[in-house]
Amino acid sequence: MTEHAVVIAGGGPAGMMLAAELALAKVDVAVVERRPDHVLVGSRAGGFHSRTLEVLDQRGVADRFLAEGQVAQAATFGTTVLDMSDFPTRHPYSLGIWQNRIERIMAAWIAELPVHVYYGCEVTGFAQDDTGVDVRLADGEPLRAQYLVGCDGGRSLIRKAAGIEFPGWDPTRSNLIAEVELTEEPPPGVRHDATGVHGLHRMEDGRTVRVVVTEQQIGPSTEPTLRDLSEALITVFGTDFGIHSPTWISRFTDMTRQAADYRDRRVLLAGDAAHVHYPAGGQGLSLGVQDAVNLGWKLAQVVNGTSPERLLDTYHAERHPVAARALKHTMAQAALQRRDERIQALVEVVSELARMDEPRRRLAGIVSGLDIRYDLGEGHPLLGRRMPDLDLAIADGPLRVFELLHDARPLLLNLGQPGDFDIAPWEDRVRLIDVSYRGEWELPVLGVVSAPTAVLIRPDGYVAWVGDRTHVGLPEALATWFGPPTAALPAAGDGDRRGVPFVAATIRHGRR
Ligand SMILES: Cc1cc2nc3c(=O)[nH]c(=O)nc-3n(C[C@H](O)[C@H](O)[C@H](O)COP(=O)(O)OP(=O)(O)OC[C@H]3O[C@@H](n4cnc5c(N)ncnc54)[C@H](O)[C@@H]3O)c2cc1C
Repeated sequence: MTEHAVVIAGGGPAGMMLAAELALAKVDVAVVERRPDHVLVGSRAGGFHSRTLEVLDQRGVADRFLAEGQVAQAATFGTTVLDMSDFPTRHPYSLGIWQNRIERIMAAWIAELPVHVYYGCEVTGFAQDDTGVDVRLADGEPLRAQYLVGCDGGRSLIRKAAGIEFPGWDPTRSNLIAEVELTEEPPPGVRHDATGVHGLHRMEDGRTVRVVVTEQQIGPSTEPTLRDLSEALITVFGTDFGIHSPTWISRFTDMTRQAADYRDRRVLLAGDAAHVHYPAGGQGLSLGVQDAVNLGWKLAQVVNGTSPERLLDTYHAERHPVAARALKHTMAQAALQRRDERIQALVEVVSELARMDEPRRRLAGIVSGLDIRYDLGEGHPLLGRRMPDLDLAIADGPLRVFELLHDARPLLLNLGQPGDFDIAPWEDRVRLIDVSYRGEWELPVLGVVSAPTAVLIRPDGYVAWVGDRTHVGLPEALATWFGPPTAALPAAGDGDRRGVPFVAATIRHGRR
């Protein structure tokens, strides 16, 4: 039986991001993907938001997506565009880029990493025991893994086979989405009525038109046809604009559900397998990518024996509330897309409020993902929040924080007195660097916060400990997040590395 440390069922955005994170952490990882290759039929999601760009920037690959997309102030709430150009981030915008392009770029990235991808291969079930999981495939021998992660989309077989509850709300409406050609010109803009939102937009090739139309009744679970699309368009617009030559027709609903647990022993869920919602606000893909970045380093540390299994419990604890909040907001936004006179009145009130500074910042912080705070206890406002991508100075020149996160390793930045820290019992896992930074510390939504003298940064870019002229709590934070201390190193005769910021010394002589 072929063995891998981790098997990921599903090679969509969440599965590929997780595979990259595990491979960067030197975990033997395999992705099992039903499709024959990475090609996604249809454009699907239209891009991602600021925090997702940041996490890709943390791995040094954001430029690949920026080169093929279009930046836009496209973060919306309901129908209100939220200006976030004043947010303190290198990416104060959303990126418009179709999901099939995103997946092409991600597939090329993971092809550069030691990730084994089984294309054209379907997971049909699994059995877990105390030491691992047997993953059954439609064809061929099962795979054996220490952990199985279901990144297999909203209809997740892994979630169902694990018996994980998926509570939430049944659909109240359905939309047809398609890429077709037209014999007539499409109408400009987007139309809202009592059933929902409808629109036709010409795509970059100038020929294909992306159609989204809300159906009068919730459609069946069978695959929609060109005739279904024609009828839905005629009902709304009085014409089907001469649709023909479809390359993709699909249906989505406003069903809103979330897995009650993101983990059942050796089986975990990420992305749409863990949460589904109406695509209002375009947050689905971003949520999945960020699930993967939260889970990847934790799972790697457990597999590598660095951390106890309970570290995996923090994945559900941190990510479940983030998706729960997004689900609530997508339901609110979906309601705002319907238009009768009463809802129109509500839309106007919400739009007026959303343009005011404080509500705008608050909503944009949620949609962009920049305001996420994992509950790591009381303390400095940075604790549990994303580390800003500051322009640092180190001994041999300027360096951005995110450049230091490219290899997905934990990082202790000493912004105070050089040589002030001794983390010898963790130096095999945590990189310590003496840096200086002279600017302000400004966080999205919160504003300026007091400057810390040190920060411990997790591989996902979230701050695990903040130093404020003392080292109080640092050993506990290091042990909580990066495993127990290794036995004390020999005090002398071996280069006496105790008390010396060993990795910092390496860094000063050349970045890694
Ligand atoms: C029609 C439509 C329009 C959307 N529009 C938007 C939008 O505008 N904005 C937005 O943010 N989001 C949108 N979404 C949601 C977005 O596409 C998803 O949130 C995103 O794709 C989730 O990524 P994922 O990796 O979790 O799951 P998926 O992208 O669903 O990937 C799951 C992968 O698992 C594979 N798989 C499934 N079962 C198995 C199995 N048993 N064995 C092996 N492989 C398997 C599938 O082939 C697939 O590649 C839309 C979704 C749909 C369906």
